[in-house]
Amino acid sequence: MKTFFLSDGDLDEFVTNLIAKSPVFAPVAKKTRFVFNQLESVEDLRLDYDTTILPPKKLFVPTKQDLVTFEHGKYEECLAPGKKILFGVHPYDIKAISMMDWIHEESNFDIYYHSNRKATTIIGSNVQNHYKKAFFGSVCKELKVMGHDMFLTKIADGYLVEVLTKKGDDLLPDGNFTDVSKEQIKNAADVNTKADENCPSKLKNTSLEIKHKIRMYYDSDVWKKKSENCFSCGSCNIVCPTCYCFDIQDEWALEPTSGKRYRRWDACLTCEFSEVSVQGGSENFREERAERFRHRIMRKTSFLNDKLGGPACVGCGRCSGTCTADIADPVSIINEIMEK
Ligand code: SF4
Ligand code: SF4
Repeated sequence: MKTFFLSDGDLDEFVTNLIAKSPVFAPVAKKTRFVFNQLESVEDLRLDYDTTILPPKKLFVPTKQDLVTFEHGKYEECLAPGKKILFGVHPYDIKAISMMDWIHEESNFDIYYHSNRKATTIIGSNVQNHYKKAFFGSVCKELKVMGHDMFLTKIADGYLVEVLTKKGDDLLPDGNFTDVSKEQIKNAADVNTKADENCPSKLKNTSLEIKHKIRMYYDSDVWKKKSENCFSCGSCNIVCPTCYCFDIQDEWALEPTSGKRYRRWDACLTCEFSEVSVQGGSENFREERAERFRHRIMRKTSFLNDKLGGPACVGCGRCSGTCTADIADPVSIINEIMEK
């Protein structure tokens, strides 16, 4: 790893050079919230964002993605990954991307995901402001922040810049990077430690303790009580950086010989998610709201831990902040069960 300093004044030039080189996707303001959008100008960049409405995984798996077009018995894959830079990703979202990398190659290598991922250079940045529901400082500590190419930490008068890969190295000619002092390296480490410590919300137990106890509550009536006000809207899934389910559909042209196959994000909290066709009828294997509610929490705390090396939740707080019924917060659900 190489380490440099980039002054506040030199950040603008660096980002402007990146924009001239390839599309740059970065946090920008959208009314009172933030989104990852293509940067038109460095003036739109908001490294002081708290969190974005949707996680950056939308760059690798778009909300709706064409997979194959077909015509008269011939088909063509819709693979056209363009080089791009994903700028300003917070550490918890970088962890989620590294989970996505693994998930999309575990049993079936997802060429659509990985072609986009490979074409993307990821530049992380530290959390300067906390989202009101964030708890990343107390969850998923087992997993390292990894898989990114460069990381910027805001310190006095500029940024400490860590260069981690060849892709990161290739960006060095675009900025006026200078030598860094030991004191600046220590200051940056302190900044990132404080970001973890200052999360507004906290889990009170370790991932291992949570994993075991939540599993013991699989048959508890707690899920029915907790999900009483659930609208089954699926928003808590849609905003989650570690949710990855999708639905595949075919769209036919008017003449029945051509069309396309596409996928779009799906959500296990919705009623129809678990509905399958059975001999002319249908069957729903998670018909009850409580079953779907339990399934999400089990997935986030317990089911995937052994495979991922930690829980499938990075503590971004997006689910909690987006739930109209205000019942999706993993911290309040987990802490309540842990205290029983
Ligand atoms: S928990 Fe909240 S966000 Fe999730 S499906 Fe229910 S109402 Fe929607
Ligand atoms: S479960 Fe909620 S807090 Fe955890 S990663 Fe998903 S959206 Fe973020």
